[in-house]
Formats: sequence, C-alpha cells, structure tokens
Amino acid sequence: MNLTQFPRRNYVQDATPLEALPAFSKALGNKVNIYIKRDDLLPGCAGGNKTRKLDFCIADAIENGADTIITCGAVQSNHCRLTLSWAVKEGMDCHLVLEERVAGSYKKDGSGNNFLFNLMGVKSTSVVPGGSDMLGEMTKVAEQLKKEGKKPYIIPGGASNAIGATGYVACAEEIMQQLFSINLSIDHMVVPSGSAGTHAGIVVGMYGTNAGIPVSGINVSRPKDVQEEIVHNLAMETAQRLGMRESLPKEQITCFDGYVGPGYSLPTDSMTEAVQLLARTEAILLDPVYSGKAMAGLIDLVRNDYFAEGANVLFLHTGGSPALYAYLDTFQ
Ligand SMILES: *Cc1c(COP(=O)(O)O)cnc(C)c1O
Repeated sequence: MNLTQFPRRNYVQDATPLEALPAFSKALGNKVNIYIKRDDLLPGCAGGNKTRKLDFCIADAIENGADTIITCGAVQSNHCRLTLSWAVKEGMDCHLVLEERVAGSYKKDGSGNNFLFNLMGVKSTSVVPGGSDMLGEMTKVAEQLKKEGKKPYIIPGGASNAIGATGYVACAEEIMQQLFSINLSIDHMVVPSGSAGTHAGIVVGMYGTNAGIPVSGINVSRPKDVQEEIVHNLAMETAQRLGMRESLPKEQITCFDGYVGPGYSLPTDSMTEAVQLLARTEAILLDPVYSGKAMAGLIDLVRNDYFAEGANVLFLHTGGSPALYAYLDTFQ
C-alpha cells in the first residue's frame, strides 16, 4: 500500500515504542507474553490515538481551504482534546459539540479532558443531549460560522471516516516494521473498538500486508453484531480508498462486548482492576473509558485461555489517561 499518496501533516514523525510487559504478564500467571504498542505516547496534547487519524483529516481540511475545525465527542472526549490541540498548533479555530451520553455528566468546570478544552482555549462548546444527531448539530455550528465569514470543516466523531482510519493502516505497517527489526512474532493483537476507525484501520493494515495476525476488538459501548458491522463497513471503505483490490472478508472483524458494563464511560470493576494492575506492575496509565475496558477484556481472555499458552499478544494502548482525573471517586 502506498500511503504517501494521501496528504498528511506529519504529526507522527517517529514510531511509538513497542514494549514487553514482563511484570504484567507475570501477574497474569505467565500464560502468555504481553506486549504493548504505546500510542498513548503519540504527539499532541497528552497523547493518544486520535493524532494518527487527525494527521490525515486536518491535512484534508487544509487542502479544502478551511480555517476552522468543528468536531464532536462525549463530555470527556480525548478526540475533542486532540483535535483542539492540533488546531491550536495549526493556528486554526476549533469548536466542539459535546454529547451528554450520560444525563447530567457535563460539568462546565469539570476536570480531565474538559479542563484541557478550556485551558487550550476552545472557541465554543455546545452541549447536546445523548442520542442527538451530531452531524446535524455540527452542521448548524458550521452554518453560523460561514455567516461570520469563516471556512469551517467538520471532522466526524473520533475522526473515524476512511480518511482518519488511514492513520491506523499506517500504524499497522509501523508495527510490522518494528516486529521485523526486533525479530518478534506476534500471534494476536487486541485493540479498543469505539468509533471504529482504529480497529478498522488496523485490520485493513494487517490484512493488506498479509500479516496473518488476528485482531480482536474490545467494545466500549455497542453490542457485538452492531459494532462488527460498523467496523467492517468502515474497513471496506478504507480498503477501497487505498486501492486494495480484494474485498475484506467479514471474518477479519471480531468484537467482544462483554466488558462494556452498564454502558459507555460507566466504570466497571474489571476496568478498575486493569487500570490498577498495569499502573502497579508497569507504571503505565490506562483510562477508564477505552483502554481500561479493553485491557479488562485482554485480562479476561488470558484467564479464560482464549490465547494459546505461550502466545505473544500485542495490546494497542490508545491513550486517554487525562480522563482518569475525572474519575477519582472510582479509584478511591
Ligand atoms: C477514541 C479512543 C479509542 C477508540 O478508538 P476508535 O477509533 O474511536 O474506535 C480508544 N482509546 C482512547 C483513549 C480513545 O480516545
């Protein structure tokens, strides 16, 4: 695949580290060897996966003559934090539409990512009820800004369109290169599956490079069937944009929905355990909404012998640790 054909801003200049987790693996009985891809260390304010997608999405915005970015997310959205962060670096205005998926969860002076929205000087924040038509709400903001002479560009939630997912195809290629240079063979990969761009991009990259590494997505909100359909559709769209001739078989997409708990962003005991265990064995911070639940999934799969004994399992750490500070009660 030739990814240089697409405009990007070069936000990702170096490969993120790929590390072994010996103490964490030992705490899980050394049944498997767990490795971690540190996309929590990507550039952009406080790091995280959205930087790879925004690298391509903001390039597209600039190609289209935009001077203002509009995007949306949940009230503690890492995606909103990173979109704002890159807009600041590009000298563009950024407007956010926040979906209050849990009624009453938006606090104007909230901590975590919400605090960072204000610190980085977000131009406007509109809060809409859970289940709102987010594209419709962002379009309203765009219409108003156009009347004021601005040139707005809308980035969808999570930057999860075929443009953004291309960033995770690049990540899969980066991983394959790293594994080759350290001569490590990975048997299985585990990724969080939210707005789907990360999962879809990784699958397209692994399939497109003929890596033969199965990928399991751990859902953070939706039921298995619904999420697999969303990931598959986005993966096919992304593969087509990259000029892949083969269509992407549905069997390449596997999701687990057993670790969502009561719902998106709502804490679970297994998430708390996962966050504490990784912090106490490896001093790496997960987050309560995505990477914590995804790691809870990996831990459970290890305990239930889902992976062959002695397998090398790679976890994609997508970031999100600023949200921890909005969940102090959960960990105290
Ligand atoms: C957005 C996000 C995810 C999920 O990635 P998607 O591409 O939306 O599926 C995972 N982890 C963190 C920390 C995120 O912010």
